[in-house]
Formats: sequence, C-alpha cells, structure tokens
Amino acid sequence: MKFVNSYKEKMKKYNEEHKLKYYIDTMGCQMNENDSLKYAGIFESMGFEKGEEDNSNVYLFNTCCVRENAENTLFGRLGMLKNRKLNNEEVYIAIVGCMTQQEHILEKIKKSYRFVDVVLGTSCMSIFPEKLYYAIVDNKKKIEYIDVSNALEEEVPIAYNDKYKASVSIIYGCNNFCSYCIVPYVRGRERSRKPEDIIADVKKLADEGYKEIMLLGQNVNSYGNDFKEKYTFPMLLEELEKIDGIEIIRFMSPHPKDFKDDLIEVIKKSKKIARQIHLPLQSGNTEILKKMNRKYTKEQFIELALKLKEIPDVSLSTDIIVGFPNETEEQFLDTLDVVRKVEFDQIYMFIYSKRTGTVAAKLDDEITYEEKVDRLERLKKLYEETLPKLNEKMVGKVYKVLVEGKSKTNNDLYTGRSSQNKVVIFEADESFVGKVVNVKIDSQHLWYLKGTIIK
Ligand code: SF4
Repeated sequence: MKFVNSYKEKMKKYNEEHKLKYYIDTMGCQMNENDSLKYAGIFESMGFEKGEEDNSNVYLFNTCCVRENAENTLFGRLGMLKNRKLNNEEVYIAIVGCMTQQEHILEKIKKSYRFVDVVLGTSCMSIFPEKLYYAIVDNKKKIEYIDVSNALEEEVPIAYNDKYKASVSIIYGCNNFCSYCIVPYVRGRERSRKPEDIIADVKKLADEGYKEIMLLGQNVNSYGNDFKEKYTFPMLLEELEKIDGIEIIRFMSPHPKDFKDDLIEVIKKSKKIARQIHLPLQSGNTEILKKMNRKYTKEQFIELALKLKEIPDVSLSTDIIVGFPNETEEQFLDTLDVVRKVEFDQIYMFIYSKRTGTVAAKLDDEITYEEKVDRLERLKKLYEETLPKLNEKMVGKVYKVLVEGKSKTNNDLYTGRSSQNKVVIFEADESFVGKVVNVKIDSQHLWYLKGTIIK
C-alpha cells in the first residue's frame, strides 16, 4: 500500500495559515518507536510543527497492548486532554497502534471517549492524512475505525530523531502465536518488505550520513518466508553489508527456533554486523516453553546460545518472563540454570502479565504476586553477579564504538555504544561525534565501561 499524497497536500495548505503543532506519545516496543518516527515524518510533510506535551494541537497516541498498565496510561491521558477540548482549545486526538486492534478497547473508546477524533489500527499510515484532514478541516467528528493490519506500507515519510543511528523495519506481523503474546492478533501475519525497498532505504540513510542501522521485525529471521522466490534474512544481510557508509548493522528480534547455521555463518564473516545478538529465552524450562508455544527446549536453547558465544567478542542479550501461569519453583530454577550457563550481557526481565485474547490468559494461575516478585529479584541478583565478570573480560581489549555525544552523567566525557551494545565513556571532543572509533577498555563499572580512544 503506497502513501497517498493528496490529503497530505491539502493539510499542508491548511497549515500554512493555521500552523498547528503535533505531539506524539509512544508506548511499547522498538517497532512502535519506529512507527512514531514515521508518524512524525507524516506530520512534518503536512506542515505541522513539533510541539510539546502542553502546547500542541494534535495529540497522537501510538499505543501498545503488551503491558497491562498501558491501557490505564492511555485513558488517563485522554481524560486530561478532554478538559482542554471542553475549554474550546483547538485540540485533536488520534489513537493508533496495537491497542486499537482489540475489540474491548475500541468499544470503550466509542462508548466513553467520543471526543477522540481519529482511531486507526496498525499499518494504517497511508490513510492517516485523510482521516486527520476530515477531523480538522471537514469537522466529521465520528470515530471511524479501519483495520488494514495485514497491509504493507511503503514510501511513508520518516523523521529520524538521531543523526547517526536509524531503524528500518524489514518485516511486519508475526505467525508464531506464543501463548502469552498479543502481537499476532494485533499486527497481523508476517509480511516481508521487498529487499530492493529495504536496500534503497538503507542506501539513502548512508547517503545522509547514518552510520548504524537497526533492522526491525517481530521475528527478523522469518524474513522472506512469504516470498515465492527464495530470499532469506542472511541473504538480505549480505546485501546490506555492501552498502558504503553503513558501519554497524544490528537486528532485533530473531526467534531462537529460526536461528539457523547460514545466519551464524553470515554474522561470523561480516565486518559490520554487531557482535551483539538478542536471543529471547522467555523461560528456561522445557515444559513452560511448550506451554508458551516457543518450539524449542531448554537444551536446544543452550546449544544455540553457546554456539553463538563462539563468535569472537559476541555478547548475548535476552528477554525472560518469570511467573508464567503456575510456573513451579523447580521450573523457575531451570531459568536460573540457563542464565548461569549462557551468561547474558543484558536481560530484559518481566513478570508475566496476562493479555486478554491470548491462549495463556485462560490458564489457571495460583502463584502469588509476591512469589513472582521474589523470582524476579533472584534473577536480577544472578544477572548482576554475572555481569562484572563478562565486562572484566573486555578490559584491555579494543572495540569499535560509534561516538554519540557528551555523556549525560559525566559532562567532561563522551559516550557511545560498542558493537556489543555496551555503554562506553571516554575522553573526546565534538569532532568525534558521529564517527566510529576504536576504544581500548580501561575499566568496567557494571552498567558502563571506561576507555581511551586509540588511533
Ligand atoms: S515471536 Fe512470539 S513473542 Fe514474538 S511477537 Fe511473535 S508471538 Fe509475540
């Protein structure tokens, strides 16, 4: 689905006189962050100026339904904007993203939040200018909901908020149906973007001076499964490697069940693919993994993780859910066992949170919240004991770092991330910002490393 320009032009004309401001409130994952950059690009192509939370005219809520409290956050914020509308301020509200794909949310908006102007599902960017134009100029105050969650949108303008790092979506949707996850229901089935469109986007970013790209998808290593002709994620990586100017390539997230040897070989050969791999474990117990519909066992995960760790200088990050319905102490100990054996450099850990509409939401759960919190604390403790050991191994070695700017915590120093996605701080000056430099690590400080730029 291509981006339609006619309403964009109409809205732009309107803004020549009215100069409306926009504000985007993003909830959720990196896919949503990337979508919000596109919405910002659409707003700017329609002549809107970027505003602040308290002085804007159009408020766009890009919603997420992975965490339970996101709904409360959204409805709380809508309540506050309602007062500004009642005071006859020129305020418009649009809600987009995953949450609007859920029937009960849609009903709630229709029933109790009728002052909302535009409600669109995921993959609806192409029609956003038209719907916004109706709300603002044509004054058609009716909540209209359009579900094109299986669409693949191209040529959407994008306003990046970083000069050197950019994310590029390569595949939308998910076919995996992990039992705790709502994503396949709200983002539709897997749709891979054509390689030529992705390559063109990355070439354009390289021409604009971007050095690092993050390839995004719910399951990046399913890329190409929906093509008639064979074209795989490793093949795409090999093409992107050839693009001059791009120095670091990251991707997020691969599914362990689809992480095959051809991908490992491409990573090993590559000079640009970051030495950091995100490998979501979720649980270390085979029985729980089965209930989660993850399609790998504890042993298969460990085997894969240890194989990846043979790649020189590689760091592994992961996601772990504790307290899946009726997870026993013994099953939780399996998770700790995997964490001990694999030694992750970064763990995103969560307490299981029930999502209405998923298979796991129907499971009985007798574990108390206190038990779940206790498990989370024990996991955190183990992780924090492991991390210094891993960091220590980096001391004395030299790593590629993209210099991002001044350190926020120590203004005399500069900061960047190593290929392993570790925060590194060092002495530098403004001329280094945006460059990839070699940094020798001098010391480790748990959440960051200190180093020296070497020529
Ligand atoms: S792979 Fe599983 S956890 Fe990830 S988006 Fe798909 S269903 Fe959700």
